Amino acid sequence: MRVGVPKEIKKNEHRIGLTPTAVREYVAHGHQVAVEGGAGLGAGFTDEDYVKAGAKIVATAAEIFANNDMIVKVKEPQKVEWEMLREDQILFTYLHLAPDPEQTKGLIASKCAAIAYETVTDARGGLPLLAPMSEVAGRIAVFSAAETLLKHNGGMGLLFCGVPGVAPARVLVLGGGVVGLNAARMAMGLGAEVVVLERSIPRMAYIDEITNGRVVTRYSSIGAIEEEMLKADVIIGAVLVPGAEAPKLIKREHLTRMKNGSVLVDVAIDQGGCFETSKATTHEDPTYVIDGVVHYCVANMPGAAPRTSSEALNNATLPFGLALADKGLEALRENPHLARGLNVLKGEITYPAVAEAMGLGW
Ligand code: NAD
Repeated sequence: MRVGVPKEIKKNEHRIGLTPTAVREYVAHGHQVAVEGGAGLGAGFTDEDYVKAGAKIVATAAEIFANNDMIVKVKEPQKVEWEMLREDQILFTYLHLAPDPEQTKGLIASKCAAIAYETVTDARGGLPLLAPMSEVAGRIAVFSAAETLLKHNGGMGLLFCGVPGVAPARVLVLGGGVVGLNAARMAMGLGAEVVVLERSIPRMAYIDEITNGRVVTRYSSIGAIEEEMLKADVIIGAVLVPGAEAPKLIKREHLTRMKNGSVLVDVAIDQGGCFETSKATTHEDPTYVIDGVVHYCVANMPGAAPRTSSEALNNATLPFGLALADKGLEALRENPHLARGLNVLKGEITYPAVAEAMGLGW
């Protein structure tokens, strides 16, 4: 199959759909890979790296879209991109179609087969192509919190890890899923005192076991949240209720009772945020203060580490992408988890939640 990788054109997006390592695997399977010149530079991969891996470098996105059977990207296609897609072409990327009717209509009009990373599943009911970005975000959340706690960044002037004789930060993590566990382990590694509030009892047992009890777990009740939030220097919001907006676990009226200069990092901001006072921010201007509490709500946290994020994403997407390249859409028949990634096919929506969002019955 001919596989094309355009440069990402969404603002501040520096990741790339295929790393040179992944290209080499596609080439070893007998596929031809074309990469747009300079597409990997933001993630630290040169055209020469791609040529060494066996790719051909082409000058424009138009050539990538015109001459390939499958397009592999990171972000949802922008208008100029979906207008170049065509029938019998496979698009493999994050799509997030439900809140984006314009893109959905564009993909329907293109008649391409659009397979969304975020709806591919695994045997345990997880979302394996979302998990790597949650791992990155959970870890970045701790760096960001540590940085924000410093005085010149608006925080209370506390050194996250403490020093001998002075206590480190006390970190409260709301939700112990992929983001929460990665944040908790990073914070623990930096010497913080860490408490995770969760609703899932098996998940709390798992966290307790793998951290040898060093991360304290508590059932996430209203009372436990109120008690723990007053003691916390940092609160990391990492809850997810699948298919729903994030529950608002910290309310506006709580802020005045919290420590002055404490830091809220709302990783769940892409689902509306789990603090009532959260609003999305950017890496350029990541924080704002309400009632003395510093809020960090960057909606695209993995974007700060495009190199690591591209590699982690490719580790997860590679087996699915190779199956598509080897077998075309037949791969969907063979793998029901990959089939769940199919959102649009031959001008029809094929994913229930997207159809519902478009006001179409299912
Ligand atoms: P996940 O499903 O692995 O974990 C969510 C956890 O929240 C689950 O363990 C669940 O039991 C728990 N939970 C649900 N309701 C709760 C409650 N009331 N109290 C305590 N825990 C509760 O999800 P994840 O992959 O860890 O993602 C978490 C959030 O982070 C999602 O909204 C995701 O979209 C977001 N995210 C944001 C970024 C970013 O850049 N901002 C990046 C990656 C992920």
